[in-house]
Parts: sequence; structure tokens; C-alpha cells
Amino acid sequence: MDDNFEELYESVILDHSRRPRNYGLVPDATATASGDNPTCGDEITLSLRIDGDRLAAVGFTGDSCAICKASASMMTVKIKGKSRAEAEEMLGAFQDMITGKAAEPAKALGELRLLSGVQKFPQRVKCATLGWHALKAALADDSTAKNFSVNGNEAGF
Ligand code: ZN
Repeated sequence: MDDNFEELYESVILDHSRRPRNYGLVPDATATASGDNPTCGDEITLSLRIDGDRLAAVGFTGDSCAICKASASMMTVKIKGKSRAEAEEMLGAFQDMITGKAAEPAKALGELRLLSGVQKFPQRVKCATLGWHALKAALADDSTAKNFSVNGNEAGF
């Protein structure tokens, strides 16, 4: 990491962890998923209101470390108001980046690309992906009672 990248990384992560966007559960949620990452102690609940094909409302709560919270916060900004297919595309792009499958992170990820360096730290990958696991679980089927845990040595997904 060069100095500029490091500075930008720190300021964006700190900003999103201190002032998470879309924080709070949405009223009339149609899909909710709660997950935890026991190795760090992160907990996240993501709630969505899917209206037709659109993620009309997106919100999350949870007690988590800065990386986990910042990643979830940036994720909600990216998927809010988007179609299901667009949200799934974003999820795929983030997975490819954080697991090192993509040589270059997709441009569509925007600020989330700052998290690309996390792939070198498997324990941190679990932090960065917890919110995305929740998105995957919430999109898998519309249920408001989903719980999961990120365990084992799998690199996030
Ligand atoms: Zn964490």
C-alpha cells in the first residue's frame, strides 16, 4: 500500500464505522438475516424490503469491528434501490475481490475497492464479508428469520 492509499483506506473505513450509513432495521422488512463471526465477535443483522424486484429499503444493525461495520455500511449504499440482479452482481464482484479471484476489483465496487488488501488476512476476510453473507442469505429466499454463523477456515464464502 502506498501512503495515499493507506490514508484513504483509513479515512473511509473510520468514517463508515463511526457513521454507518443505513443503520437501523427497516420497517416492514421482507427479508432479514442475522449472522455472527465468532473469531472476531462481530454480529450483524441485515434487513431488506424488497418491492417487486427492487431493494426498496436496506438497513443493518450490529455490534462489530470497524472493518465489518464499514464493509456493511458501504454495501448498503451500493445495493439500496437496486434490482435483485444488480445486488447479486455486486455481491459476486465483492466475493471475487475479497477472495482474490479477480485480478482487478470491479470498478462498480467504488469505495469498497479499498478493502481489496483485506484478502491477505483470512481472519479479517470474515469481518469484511459478514454483511455480504447476510445479503446472500437474505436474497436466497424471502424470510425474516434467518440466522447463520461464519465459522471454520473457509475464506469468507
Ligand atoms: Zn471483525
